[in-house]
Amino acid sequence: MNEKTKKNKTLRGIGVSPGVVIAPAFMLMTESVCVVRHKIPKESVFTEIERFEDALIKTRQQILEVQNNLEQNTTMRDASILDAHLMVLDDHVFVDDVIKKVQAQTNVEAAVSEILESYAKMLASVEDEYLRERSADVLDVAKRMINNLTSAMDHSVLDLNHRHIVIAKDLSPSETAGMCKDMVVGFATDVGSPTSHSAVMARALEIPAVVSLRNISEQVSPGDEILIDGNKGVLIINPTEVQMEKYGRLAEARQTIERGLVTLQHKPAETTDGHKITLSANTEGLQEVDSVLRYGAEGVGLFRSEYLFLAIKGGIDEESQTAVYQQVAKRLSPAPVIIRTMDIGGDKLLDGSQFEREANPFLGCRSIRLSLLYPKSFKVQLRSILRASAHGNIKLMYPMISNVNEIIAANKILEEAKSELTAENIPFEKDIEVGIMVEIPAAVMTADVLAEHVSFFSIGTNDLIQYTLAVDRVNERVAYLYEPTHPAVLKMIKETVDAGHRHGIWVGLCGEMAADPVLVPLLLGLGIDELSVSPAAVPMVKDAVRTVGFVQAKELAAESLMCRTGTEVLNLCRHLTSEVAPELLELV
Ligand code: PEP
Ligand code: MG
Repeated sequence: MNEKTKKNKTLRGIGVSPGVVIAPAFMLMTESVCVVRHKIPKESVFTEIERFEDALIKTRQQILEVQNNLEQNTTMRDASILDAHLMVLDDHVFVDDVIKKVQAQTNVEAAVSEILESYAKMLASVEDEYLRERSADVLDVAKRMINNLTSAMDHSVLDLNHRHIVIAKDLSPSETAGMCKDMVVGFATDVGSPTSHSAVMARALEIPAVVSLRNISEQVSPGDEILIDGNKGVLIINPTEVQMEKYGRLAEARQTIERGLVTLQHKPAETTDGHKITLSANTEGLQEVDSVLRYGAEGVGLFRSEYLFLAIKGGIDEESQTAVYQQVAKRLSPAPVIIRTMDIGGDKLLDGSQFEREANPFLGCRSIRLSLLYPKSFKVQLRSILRASAHGNIKLMYPMISNVNEIIAANKILEEAKSELTAENIPFEKDIEVGIMVEIPAAVMTADVLAEHVSFFSIGTNDLIQYTLAVDRVNERVAYLYEPTHPAVLKMIKETVDAGHRHGIWVGLCGEMAADPVLVPLLLGLGIDELSVSPAAVPMVKDAVRTVGFVQAKELAAESLMCRTGTEVLNLCRHLTSEVAPELLELV
Protein backbone atom coordinates (compact mmCIF):
# COMPACT_ATOMS: atom_id res chain seq x y z
CA MET A 1 0.00 0.00 0.00
CA ASN A 2 1.22 3.49 -0.81
CA GLU A 3 2.36 5.50 2.27
CA LYS A 4 -0.23 8.21 1.59
CA THR A 5 -3.13 5.76 1.43
CA LYS A 6 -2.31 4.01 4.70
CA LYS A 7 -5.20 4.39 7.11
CA ASN A 8 -4.83 6.56 10.19
CA LYS A 9 -7.07 5.50 13.03
CA THR A 10 -7.24 6.08 16.79
CA LEU A 11 -8.58 3.38 19.08
CA ARG A 12 -9.19 3.34 22.80
CA GLY A 13 -8.66 0.38 25.11
CA ILE A 14 -7.29 -0.06 28.59
CA GLY A 15 -3.75 1.11 29.31
CA VAL A 16 -2.14 -1.56 31.48
CA SER A 17 1.51 -0.65 31.38
CA PRO A 18 2.64 2.99 31.08
CA GLY A 19 4.76 4.64 28.41
CA VAL A 20 4.50 6.00 24.87
CA VAL A 21 6.15 4.09 22.02
CA ILE A 22 6.08 4.08 18.23
CA ALA A 23 7.19 1.08 16.16
CA PRO A 24 6.07 -1.11 13.27
CA ALA A 25 3.41 -3.73 13.98
CA PHE A 26 4.27 -7.37 14.41
CA MET A 27 1.20 -9.55 13.97
CA LEU A 28 1.30 -12.50 16.32
CA MET A 29 -1.01 -15.19 15.02
CA THR A 30 -1.71 -17.96 17.41
CA GLU A 31 -4.07 -20.13 15.40
CA SER A 32 -2.48 -23.32 14.22
CA VAL A 33 -2.11 -23.89 10.52
CA CYS A 34 -4.61 -26.23 8.93
CA VAL A 35 -2.98 -29.09 7.08
CA VAL A 36 -4.70 -30.55 4.00
CA ARG A 37 -3.64 -34.01 2.79
CA HIS A 38 -3.15 -34.45 -0.95
CA LYS A 39 -1.41 -36.75 -3.36
CA ILE A 40 1.81 -35.45 -4.88
CA PRO A 41 3.09 -36.47 -8.33
CA LYS A 42 5.91 -39.05 -8.36
CA GLU A 43 8.42 -36.54 -9.75
CA SER A 44 7.86 -34.21 -6.74
CA VAL A 45 8.89 -36.81 -4.15
CA PHE A 46 12.55 -35.79 -4.14
CA THR A 47 11.80 -32.06 -3.73
CA GLU A 48 9.28 -32.86 -1.02
CA ILE A 49 11.93 -34.82 0.94
CA GLU A 50 14.33 -31.90 0.53
CA ARG A 51 11.69 -29.57 1.99
CA PHE A 52 11.35 -31.95 4.91
CA GLU A 53 15.10 -31.89 5.54
CA ASP A 54 15.21 -28.08 5.37
CA ALA A 55 12.33 -27.86 7.85
CA LEU A 56 14.13 -30.23 10.21
CA ILE A 57 17.22 -28.00 10.17
CA LYS A 58 15.21 -24.78 10.62
CA THR A 59 13.13 -26.24 13.45
CA ARG A 60 16.23 -27.50 15.26
CA GLN A 61 17.80 -24.04 14.96
CA GLN A 62 14.67 -22.35 16.35
CA ILE A 63 14.49 -24.70 19.32
CA LEU A 64 18.14 -24.03 20.14
CA GLU A 65 17.42 -20.29 20.02
CA VAL A 66 14.44 -20.64 22.35
CA GLN A 67 16.60 -22.69 24.70
CA ASN A 68 19.26 -20.02 24.62
CA ASN A 69 16.72 -17.29 25.28
CA LEU A 70 15.29 -19.19 28.25
CA GLU A 71 18.72 -19.64 29.74
CA GLN A 72 19.54 -15.96 29.38
CA ASN A 73 16.22 -14.45 30.37
CA THR A 74 15.09 -16.71 33.15
CA THR A 75 18.45 -17.21 34.86
CA MET A 76 17.65 -20.88 35.01
CA ARG A 77 20.33 -23.40 34.59
CA ASP A 78 17.91 -25.96 33.34
CA ALA A 79 16.53 -25.10 29.95
CA SER A 80 17.28 -28.71 29.08
CA ILE A 81 13.61 -29.50 29.05
CA LEU A 82 13.61 -28.49 25.38
CA ASP A 83 16.00 -31.37 24.78
CA ALA A 84 12.88 -33.51 24.50
CA HIS A 85 11.88 -31.42 21.45
CA LEU A 86 15.28 -31.90 19.88
CA MET A 87 15.07 -35.62 20.50
CA VAL A 88 11.85 -35.83 18.49
CA LEU A 89 13.61 -34.21 15.53
CA ASP A 90 16.56 -36.55 15.80
CA ASP A 91 14.45 -39.68 16.07
CA HIS A 92 15.28 -41.96 13.13
CA VAL A 93 11.93 -43.72 13.30
CA PHE A 94 10.15 -40.40 12.86
CA VAL A 95 12.37 -39.35 9.94
CA ASP A 96 12.02 -42.75 8.23
CA ASP A 97 8.24 -42.84 8.73
CA VAL A 98 7.83 -39.40 7.14
CA ILE A 99 10.05 -40.29 4.19
CA LYS A 100 8.12 -43.54 3.62
CA LYS A 101 4.82 -41.65 3.56
CA VAL A 102 6.20 -39.04 1.15
CA GLN A 103 7.53 -41.83 -1.11
CA ALA A 104 3.97 -43.15 -1.11
CA GLN A 105 3.06 -39.73 -2.59
CA THR A 106 1.62 -37.98 0.47
CA ASN A 107 2.44 -34.27 0.78
CA VAL A 108 5.08 -33.69 3.46
CA GLU A 109 2.94 -31.42 5.71
CA ALA A 110 0.31 -34.14 6.02
CA ALA A 111 2.98 -36.82 6.53
CA VAL A 112 4.63 -34.90 9.39
CA SER A 113 1.37 -33.90 11.00
CA GLU A 114 -0.20 -37.39 10.85
CA ILE A 115 2.88 -39.17 12.17
CA LEU A 116 3.57 -36.78 15.04
CA GLU A 117 -0.08 -36.67 16.01
CA SER A 118 -0.17 -40.46 16.16
CA TYR A 119 2.94 -40.46 18.38
CA ALA A 120 1.36 -37.82 20.63
CA LYS A 121 -1.86 -39.80 20.94
CA MET A 122 0.06 -42.93 21.82
CA LEU A 123 2.09 -41.11 24.49
CA ALA A 124 -0.99 -39.43 25.95
CA SER A 125 -2.52 -42.82 26.70
CA VAL A 126 0.37 -44.45 28.55
CA GLU A 127 0.48 -44.94 32.33
CA ASP A 128 3.87 -43.36 32.92
CA GLU A 129 3.40 -39.71 33.88
CA TYR A 130 6.71 -38.57 32.44
CA LEU A 131 6.00 -40.13 29.04
CA ARG A 132 2.46 -38.75 29.07
CA GLU A 133 3.84 -35.25 29.46
CA ARG A 134 6.07 -35.76 26.41
CA SER A 135 2.91 -35.87 24.31
CA ALA A 136 2.69 -32.06 24.55
CA ASP A 137 6.33 -31.82 23.42
CA VAL A 138 5.63 -33.88 20.32
CA LEU A 139 2.64 -31.66 19.44
CA ASP A 140 4.76 -28.56 19.93
CA VAL A 141 7.37 -29.88 17.53
CA ALA A 142 4.65 -30.86 15.05
CA LYS A 143 3.26 -27.30 15.10
CA ARG A 144 6.68 -25.78 14.59
CA MET A 145 7.54 -28.15 11.75
CA ILE A 146 4.23 -27.48 9.97
CA ASN A 147 4.66 -23.75 10.39
CA ASN A 148 8.12 -23.99 8.87
CA LEU A 149 6.92 -26.18 6.00
CA THR A 150 4.10 -23.80 5.18
CA SER A 151 6.38 -20.76 5.69
CA ALA A 152 3.88 -19.41 8.18
CA MET A 153 6.54 -19.23 10.84
CA ASP A 154 6.85 -15.52 11.16
CA HIS A 155 4.99 -16.12 14.35
CA SER A 156 7.30 -16.27 17.25
CA VAL A 157 8.20 -13.10 19.13
CA LEU A 158 11.51 -14.80 19.75
CA ASP A 159 12.26 -14.51 16.02
CA LEU A 160 12.12 -10.71 16.10
CA ASN A 161 15.37 -8.99 15.31
CA HIS A 162 14.33 -5.37 15.45
CA ARG A 163 11.93 -3.15 17.45
CA HIS A 164 8.23 -3.94 17.03
CA ILE A 165 4.91 -3.51 18.75
CA VAL A 166 3.26 -6.91 19.04
CA ILE A 167 -0.39 -7.05 18.01
CA ALA A 168 -2.35 -10.15 19.05
CA LYS A 169 -5.82 -11.34 19.88
CA ASP A 170 -4.55 -12.33 23.31
CA LEU A 171 -1.26 -13.18 24.97
CA SER A 172 -0.65 -15.79 27.61
CA PRO A 173 1.42 -14.79 30.67
CA SER A 174 4.23 -17.07 29.50
CA GLU A 175 4.19 -15.55 26.00
CA THR A 176 4.52 -12.13 27.62
CA ALA A 177 7.24 -13.40 29.94
CA GLY A 178 9.23 -14.63 26.92
CA MET A 179 9.33 -11.18 25.30
CA CYS A 180 12.69 -9.53 24.87
CA LYS A 181 12.38 -5.85 25.85
CA ASP A 182 14.77 -4.67 23.15
CA MET A 183 12.70 -6.19 20.34
CA VAL A 184 9.17 -5.97 21.75
CA VAL A 185 8.78 -2.32 22.72
CA GLY A 186 5.04 -2.54 23.31
CA PHE A 187 2.01 -4.72 22.82
CA ALA A 188 -1.68 -4.38 22.13
CA THR A 189 -4.38 -7.03 22.29
CA ASP A 190 -8.06 -7.49 21.45
CA VAL A 191 -8.90 -8.76 24.92
CA GLY A 192 -7.43 -8.47 28.42
CA SER A 193 -7.66 -6.42 31.60
CA PRO A 194 -5.35 -4.56 34.00
CA THR A 195 -5.18 -7.48 36.42
CA SER A 196 -4.64 -10.24 33.88
CA HIS A 197 -1.27 -11.81 34.41
CA SER A 198 -0.07 -10.70 30.96
CA ALA A 199 -0.64 -7.12 32.11
CA VAL A 200 1.16 -7.83 35.38
CA MET A 201 4.07 -9.19 33.37
CA ALA A 202 4.11 -6.17 31.01
CA ARG A 203 4.47 -3.84 33.99
CA ALA A 204 7.20 -6.05 35.44
CA LEU A 205 9.11 -5.89 32.16
CA GLU A 206 8.24 -2.17 31.77
CA ILE A 207 6.81 -2.75 28.29
CA PRO A 208 4.04 -0.21 27.46
CA ALA A 209 0.80 -2.06 26.71
CA VAL A 210 -2.84 -1.43 25.80
CA VAL A 211 -5.42 -4.22 26.01
CA SER A 212 -9.14 -4.67 25.40
CA LEU A 213 -9.04 -3.06 21.94
CA ARG A 214 -11.73 -5.46 20.64
CA ASN A 215 -10.63 -6.23 17.07
CA ILE A 216 -7.28 -4.53 16.82
CA SER A 217 -5.74 -7.73 15.43
CA GLU A 218 -8.05 -7.38 12.41
CA GLN A 219 -7.60 -3.64 11.93
CA VAL A 220 -3.82 -3.57 11.82
CA SER A 221 -1.90 -4.84 8.79
CA PRO A 222 1.73 -5.96 8.75
CA GLY A 223 3.88 -2.92 8.03
CA ASP A 224 1.56 -0.44 9.74
CA GLU A 225 3.26 2.00 12.08
CA ILE A 226 1.72 1.88 15.57
CA LEU A 227 1.76 4.38 18.44
CA ILE A 228 0.62 3.30 21.87
CA ASP A 229 0.08 5.32 25.01
CA GLY A 230 0.02 2.80 27.82
CA ASN A 231 -0.98 5.40 30.42
CA LYS A 232 -4.18 6.49 28.73
CA GLY A 233 -4.95 3.29 26.79
CA VAL A 234 -4.70 4.86 23.33
CA LEU A 235 -3.50 3.15 20.14
CA ILE A 236 -3.00 5.00 16.85
CA ILE A 237 -2.55 3.17 13.56
CA ASN A 238 -0.17 5.08 11.24
CA PRO A 239 -0.01 8.26 13.37
CA THR A 240 0.31 11.60 11.60
CA GLU A 241 3.23 13.98 12.23
CA VAL A 242 0.97 16.11 14.42
CA GLN A 243 -0.09 13.12 16.52
CA MET A 244 3.50 11.96 16.91
CA GLU A 245 4.55 15.40 18.11
CA LYS A 246 1.65 15.60 20.56
CA TYR A 247 2.40 12.23 22.11
CA GLY A 248 6.13 12.96 22.11
CA ARG A 249 5.48 16.09 24.19
CA LEU A 250 3.16 14.17 26.52
CA ALA A 251 5.77 11.47 27.05
CA GLU A 252 8.41 14.09 27.80
CA ALA A 253 6.19 15.85 30.35
CA ARG A 254 5.52 12.53 32.11
CA GLN A 255 9.20 11.66 32.09
CA THR A 256 9.98 14.95 33.79
CA ILE A 257 7.51 14.14 36.58
CA GLU A 258 8.85 10.58 36.85
CA ARG A 259 12.47 11.78 37.02
CA GLY A 260 11.43 14.03 39.91
CA LEU A 261 9.82 11.09 41.70
CA VAL A 262 12.87 8.87 41.36
CA THR A 263 14.73 11.30 43.64
CA LEU A 264 12.51 9.96 46.44
CA GLN A 265 14.43 6.67 46.23
CA HIS A 266 16.03 6.85 49.67
CA LYS A 267 13.19 8.66 51.41
CA PRO A 268 10.71 6.77 53.61
CA ALA A 269 7.10 6.11 52.66
CA GLU A 270 5.82 8.47 55.33
CA THR A 271 2.82 10.77 55.41
CA THR A 272 3.21 14.51 56.00
CA ASP A 273 2.24 13.97 59.66
CA GLY A 274 4.71 11.15 60.31
CA HIS A 275 2.78 7.90 59.75
CA LYS A 276 5.13 5.40 58.13
CA ILE A 277 4.23 2.36 56.07
CA THR A 278 6.40 -0.21 54.27
CA LEU A 279 6.57 0.12 50.50
CA SER A 280 7.66 -3.08 48.77
CA ALA A 281 7.78 -4.37 45.21
CA ASN A 282 6.10 -7.25 43.40
CA THR A 283 8.42 -9.39 41.31
CA GLU A 284 8.20 -12.41 39.07
CA GLY A 285 11.84 -13.43 38.96
CA LEU A 286 15.47 -12.62 39.51
CA GLN A 287 15.62 -10.26 36.56
CA GLU A 288 13.65 -7.56 38.44
CA VAL A 289 15.92 -7.28 41.45
CA ASP A 290 17.84 -4.37 39.90
CA SER A 291 14.58 -2.46 39.44
CA VAL A 292 13.54 -3.18 43.04
CA LEU A 293 16.74 -1.51 44.23
CA ARG A 294 16.74 1.27 41.63
CA TYR A 295 13.19 2.41 42.39
CA GLY A 296 13.78 2.31 46.16
CA ALA A 297 11.43 -0.44 47.32
CA GLU A 298 11.98 -1.76 50.84
CA GLY A 299 12.07 -5.39 49.79
CA VAL A 300 9.79 -7.75 47.90
CA GLY A 301 6.21 -7.92 49.15
CA LEU A 302 5.18 -10.54 46.61
CA PHE A 303 7.46 -12.85 44.68
CA ARG A 304 5.17 -14.63 42.21
CA SER A 305 7.11 -17.90 42.17
CA GLU A 306 4.82 -19.54 39.60
CA TYR A 307 6.65 -17.73 36.80
CA LEU A 308 9.60 -20.04 37.43
CA PHE A 309 7.29 -22.90 36.54
CA LEU A 310 5.61 -21.14 33.62
CA ALA A 311 8.95 -20.30 32.02
CA ILE A 312 10.15 -23.88 31.91
CA LYS A 313 7.89 -26.61 30.61
CA GLY A 314 8.06 -29.58 32.93
CA GLY A 315 8.91 -27.50 36.00
CA ILE A 316 12.03 -26.48 37.79
CA ASP A 317 13.97 -28.70 40.16
CA GLU A 318 14.91 -28.04 43.79
CA GLU A 319 18.45 -26.92 43.04
CA SER A 320 17.39 -24.36 40.40
CA GLN A 321 14.54 -23.04 42.55
CA THR A 322 16.84 -22.70 45.56
CA ALA A 323 19.39 -20.86 43.43
CA VAL A 324 16.84 -18.27 42.27
CA TYR A 325 15.31 -17.65 45.73
CA GLN A 326 18.75 -17.51 47.29
CA GLN A 327 20.09 -14.97 44.81
CA VAL A 328 17.07 -12.70 45.26
CA ALA A 329 17.30 -12.92 49.05
CA LYS A 330 21.06 -12.34 49.07
CA ARG A 331 20.90 -9.31 46.80
CA LEU A 332 18.15 -7.66 48.81
CA SER A 333 19.29 -8.68 52.29
CA PRO A 334 18.57 -7.45 54.97
CA ALA A 335 15.33 -6.33 53.28
CA PRO A 336 12.59 -8.98 53.35
CA VAL A 337 11.55 -11.09 50.37
CA ILE A 338 8.10 -12.64 50.64
CA ILE A 339 7.99 -15.72 48.45
CA ARG A 340 4.49 -16.77 47.54
CA THR A 341 4.22 -20.49 46.84
CA MET A 342 3.19 -21.18 43.28
CA ASP A 343 -0.15 -19.83 42.17
CA ILE A 344 -0.76 -21.82 39.02
CA GLY A 345 -4.24 -21.86 37.55
CA GLY A 346 -6.78 -19.21 36.57
CA ASP A 347 -5.12 -17.45 33.63
CA LYS A 348 -1.70 -18.93 34.45
CA LEU A 349 -1.92 -22.39 32.98
CA LEU A 350 0.90 -24.82 32.60
CA ASP A 351 1.09 -26.89 29.45
CA GLY A 352 1.11 -30.57 30.13
CA SER A 353 -1.46 -33.24 30.31
CA GLN A 354 -1.42 -33.74 34.09
CA PHE A 355 -3.42 -30.53 34.49
CA GLU A 356 -6.94 -31.06 33.36
CA ARG A 357 -8.75 -28.27 31.56
CA GLU A 358 -11.48 -26.91 33.80
CA ALA A 359 -14.69 -25.09 32.94
CA ASN A 360 -14.04 -22.38 35.57
CA PRO A 361 -10.30 -22.28 36.17
CA PHE A 362 -10.48 -19.28 38.54
CA LEU A 363 -12.81 -21.32 40.76
CA GLY A 364 -11.03 -24.59 40.21
CA CYS A 365 -7.92 -26.41 41.25
CA ARG A 366 -5.79 -23.30 41.41
CA SER A 367 -2.94 -22.17 43.62
CA ILE A 368 -2.73 -23.70 47.14
CA ARG A 369 -5.35 -26.26 46.10
CA LEU A 370 -3.05 -27.51 43.37
CA SER A 371 -0.05 -27.47 45.73
CA LEU A 372 -1.93 -29.56 48.28
CA LEU A 373 -3.03 -31.95 45.55
CA TYR A 374 0.61 -32.54 44.59
CA PRO A 375 2.30 -32.59 48.02
CA LYS A 376 5.56 -33.99 46.68
CA SER A 377 6.12 -31.06 44.28
CA PHE A 378 4.88 -28.66 46.96
CA LYS A 379 7.43 -30.01 49.40
CA VAL A 380 10.18 -29.50 46.82
CA GLN A 381 9.19 -25.85 46.64
CA LEU A 382 9.05 -25.49 50.42
CA ARG A 383 12.48 -27.15 50.76
CA SER A 384 13.87 -24.69 48.20
CA ILE A 385 12.42 -21.69 50.01
CA LEU A 386 13.69 -22.96 53.35
CA ARG A 387 17.15 -23.63 51.97
CA ALA A 388 17.32 -20.11 50.56
CA SER A 389 16.13 -18.68 53.88
CA ALA A 390 19.59 -19.34 55.34
CA HIS A 391 20.94 -16.64 53.00
CA GLY A 392 18.64 -13.67 53.55
CA ASN A 393 15.40 -12.42 55.03
CA ILE A 394 12.81 -14.70 53.44
CA LYS A 395 9.18 -14.99 54.44
CA LEU A 396 6.74 -17.54 53.08
CA MET A 397 3.23 -16.85 51.87
CA TYR A 398 0.39 -19.20 50.84
CA PRO A 399 -2.01 -17.94 48.15
CA MET A 400 -5.78 -18.45 47.71
CA ILE A 401 -6.48 -19.56 51.26
CA SER A 402 -10.20 -20.10 51.78
CA ASN A 403 -10.20 -21.95 55.10
CA VAL A 404 -7.97 -22.70 58.07
CA ASN A 405 -7.49 -26.36 57.13
CA GLU A 406 -5.49 -25.32 54.08
CA ILE A 407 -3.04 -23.42 56.30
CA ILE A 408 -2.78 -26.38 58.68
CA ALA A 409 -2.21 -28.82 55.79
CA ALA A 410 0.40 -26.58 54.16
CA ASN A 411 2.18 -26.04 57.49
CA LYS A 412 2.28 -29.80 58.04
CA ILE A 413 4.18 -30.24 54.78
CA LEU A 414 6.39 -27.31 55.79
CA GLU A 415 7.24 -29.07 59.06
CA GLU A 416 8.09 -32.26 57.14
CA ALA A 417 10.38 -30.25 54.86
CA LYS A 418 12.05 -28.71 57.92
CA SER A 419 12.60 -32.15 59.52
CA GLU A 420 14.11 -33.50 56.32
CA LEU A 421 16.52 -30.59 56.03
CA THR A 422 17.50 -30.90 59.70
CA ALA A 423 18.20 -34.62 59.17
CA GLU A 424 20.26 -33.75 56.09
CA ASN A 425 22.21 -31.09 57.98
CA ILE A 426 21.10 -28.40 55.55
CA PRO A 427 20.80 -24.95 57.16
CA PHE A 428 17.58 -22.92 57.03
CA GLU A 429 15.76 -20.26 59.08
CA LYS A 430 13.84 -22.29 61.67
CA ASP A 431 11.50 -19.44 62.57
CA ILE A 432 10.65 -18.46 59.02
CA GLU A 433 7.55 -16.25 59.08
CA VAL A 434 4.51 -17.65 57.34
CA GLY A 435 1.71 -15.46 56.02
CA ILE A 436 -1.26 -15.82 53.72
CA MET A 437 -2.84 -13.93 50.91
CA VAL A 438 -6.32 -12.78 51.75
CA GLU A 439 -8.02 -12.79 48.38
CA ILE A 440 -11.20 -14.80 48.87
CA PRO A 441 -14.20 -13.32 50.72
CA ALA A 442 -14.34 -16.47 52.90
CA ALA A 443 -10.85 -15.65 54.17
CA VAL A 444 -11.95 -12.12 55.02
CA MET A 445 -14.98 -13.32 56.91
CA THR A 446 -12.90 -15.82 58.90
CA ALA A 447 -9.81 -13.61 59.20
CA ASP A 448 -9.89 -13.82 63.02
CA VAL A 449 -9.50 -17.60 62.83
CA LEU A 450 -6.82 -17.49 60.14
CA ALA A 451 -4.83 -14.79 61.95
CA GLU A 452 -4.13 -17.21 64.81
CA HIS A 453 -2.03 -19.36 62.45
CA VAL A 454 0.03 -16.78 60.58
CA SER A 455 2.43 -13.87 61.04
CA PHE A 456 0.96 -11.55 58.42
CA PHE A 457 -1.80 -11.03 55.89
CA SER A 458 -1.34 -9.67 52.39
CA ILE A 459 -4.55 -8.66 50.67
CA GLY A 460 -4.68 -9.72 47.02
CA THR A 461 -7.22 -7.29 45.67
CA ASN A 462 -6.88 -8.53 42.09
CA ASP A 463 -8.63 -11.71 43.14
CA LEU A 464 -10.55 -10.31 46.10
CA ILE A 465 -12.35 -7.91 43.77
CA GLN A 466 -13.14 -10.64 41.23
CA TYR A 467 -14.47 -13.02 43.89
CA THR A 468 -16.38 -10.34 45.82
CA LEU A 469 -18.05 -8.78 42.80
CA ALA A 470 -18.32 -12.01 40.74
CA VAL A 471 -16.43 -10.33 37.89
CA ASP A 472 -13.90 -12.39 35.95
CA ARG A 473 -10.70 -10.33 36.26
CA VAL A 474 -9.61 -11.07 32.67
CA ASN A 475 -12.95 -10.63 30.90
CA GLU A 476 -13.06 -7.20 29.25
CA ARG A 477 -16.82 -7.51 28.67
CA VAL A 478 -17.46 -7.13 32.38
CA ALA A 479 -14.51 -4.84 33.06
CA TYR A 480 -16.89 -1.95 33.79
CA LEU A 481 -18.06 -3.89 36.87
CA TYR A 482 -14.53 -4.47 38.17
CA GLU A 483 -14.44 -1.64 40.69
CA PRO A 484 -11.68 -1.46 43.30
CA THR A 485 -13.64 1.31 45.01
CA HIS A 486 -16.88 -0.66 45.28
CA PRO A 487 -18.18 -0.23 48.87
CA ALA A 488 -18.14 -4.05 49.30
CA VAL A 489 -14.44 -4.14 48.47
CA LEU A 490 -13.64 -1.34 50.93
CA LYS A 491 -15.49 -3.21 53.68
CA MET A 492 -13.55 -6.39 52.86
CA ILE A 493 -10.25 -4.51 53.19
CA LYS A 494 -11.31 -2.82 56.42
CA GLU A 495 -12.49 -6.11 57.92
CA THR A 496 -9.17 -7.81 57.10
CA VAL A 497 -7.06 -4.96 58.48
CA ASP A 498 -9.07 -4.83 61.71
CA ALA A 499 -8.89 -8.61 62.21
CA GLY A 500 -5.14 -8.63 61.57
CA HIS A 501 -4.55 -5.78 64.00
CA ARG A 502 -6.74 -7.39 66.67
CA HIS A 503 -4.35 -10.34 66.51
CA GLY A 504 -1.21 -8.20 66.46
CA ILE A 505 -0.14 -9.02 62.90
CA TRP A 506 0.61 -6.61 60.07
CA VAL A 507 -1.58 -6.36 57.00
CA GLY A 508 -0.25 -5.55 53.54
CA LEU A 509 -1.89 -5.17 50.14
CA CYS A 510 -0.21 -6.41 46.97
CA GLY A 511 -2.96 -6.22 44.31
CA GLU A 512 -2.85 -3.68 41.47
CA MET A 513 -5.12 -1.39 43.48
CA ALA A 514 -2.04 -0.45 45.55
CA ALA A 515 -0.34 0.97 42.45
CA ASP A 516 -3.09 3.50 41.75
CA PRO A 517 -1.76 6.65 43.46
CA VAL A 518 -5.26 8.08 43.58
CA LEU A 519 -6.34 5.21 45.86
CA VAL A 520 -3.25 5.17 48.07
CA PRO A 521 -4.60 7.72 50.64
CA LEU A 522 -7.75 5.60 50.95
CA LEU A 523 -5.70 2.46 51.67
CA LEU A 524 -3.59 4.34 54.22
CA GLY A 525 -6.76 5.56 55.89
CA LEU A 526 -8.11 2.00 56.04
CA GLY A 527 -5.05 1.10 58.10
CA ILE A 528 -2.89 -0.85 55.63
CA ASP A 529 0.67 -1.36 56.98
CA GLU A 530 2.44 -2.31 53.75
CA LEU A 531 1.86 -1.72 50.04
CA SER A 532 3.53 -3.83 47.38
CA VAL A 533 3.51 -2.74 43.72
CA SER A 534 5.46 -3.34 40.52
CA PRO A 535 8.97 -1.81 40.89
CA ALA A 536 8.38 1.02 38.40
CA ALA A 537 5.26 2.12 40.30
CA VAL A 538 7.14 2.51 43.60
CA PRO A 539 8.16 6.20 43.16
CA MET A 540 4.62 7.23 42.20
CA VAL A 541 3.10 5.42 45.19
CA LYS A 542 5.73 6.85 47.50
CA ASP A 543 4.85 10.34 46.29
CA ALA A 544 1.18 9.61 47.00
CA VAL A 545 2.06 8.58 50.57
CA ARG A 546 4.41 11.49 51.18
CA THR A 547 2.01 14.19 50.00
CA VAL A 548 -0.95 13.33 52.20
CA GLY A 549 -1.56 13.55 55.95
CA PHE A 550 -2.59 10.42 57.86
CA VAL A 551 -5.40 12.39 59.44
CA GLN A 552 -6.65 13.40 55.96
CA ALA A 553 -6.36 9.77 54.82
CA LYS A 554 -8.38 8.51 57.77
CA GLU A 555 -11.07 11.12 57.11
CA LEU A 556 -11.18 10.03 53.46
CA ALA A 557 -11.54 6.38 54.46
CA ALA A 558 -14.29 7.13 56.96
CA GLU A 559 -16.21 9.16 54.40
CA SER A 560 -15.66 6.51 51.70
CA LEU A 561 -16.99 3.75 53.92
CA MET A 562 -20.29 5.64 54.04
CA CYS A 563 -20.58 6.03 50.25
CA ARG A 564 -23.18 4.10 48.32
CA THR A 565 -21.30 3.57 45.06
CA GLY A 566 -17.79 2.99 43.78
CA THR A 567 -18.01 6.15 41.67
CA GLU A 568 -18.71 8.30 44.75
CA VAL A 569 -15.65 6.82 46.45
CA LEU A 570 -13.50 7.34 43.37
CA ASN A 571 -14.59 10.97 43.12
CA LEU A 572 -13.62 11.59 46.75
CA CYS A 573 -10.21 10.02 46.13
CA ARG A 574 -9.64 12.01 42.92
CA HIS A 575 -10.62 15.20 44.66
CA LEU A 576 -8.08 14.66 47.42
CA THR A 577 -5.30 13.80 44.94
CA SER A 578 -6.07 16.89 42.87
CA GLU A 579 -5.54 18.93 46.04
CA VAL A 580 -2.44 17.27 47.47
CA ALA A 581 -0.59 15.77 44.48
CA PRO A 582 -2.05 17.01 41.15
CA GLU A 583 1.11 15.89 39.29
CA LEU A 584 0.08 12.28 39.89
CA LEU A 585 -3.11 12.71 37.87
CA GLU A 586 -0.94 13.22 34.78
CA LEU A 587 0.46 9.73 35.18
CA VAL A 588 -2.71 7.70 35.54
C1 PEP B 1 -3.92 -10.57 43.82
O1 PEP B 1 -4.76 -11.43 43.59
O2 PEP B 1 -4.20 -9.41 44.13
C2 PEP B 1 -2.48 -10.86 43.69
C3 PEP B 1 -1.58 -9.98 44.03
O3 PEP B 1 -2.11 -12.07 43.17
P1 PEP B 1 -2.22 -12.42 41.61
O4 PEP B 1 -2.45 -11.15 40.86
O5 PEP B 1 -0.93 -13.06 41.25
O6 PEP B 1 -3.37 -13.35 41.56
MG1 MG C 1 -4.26 -13.49 43.50
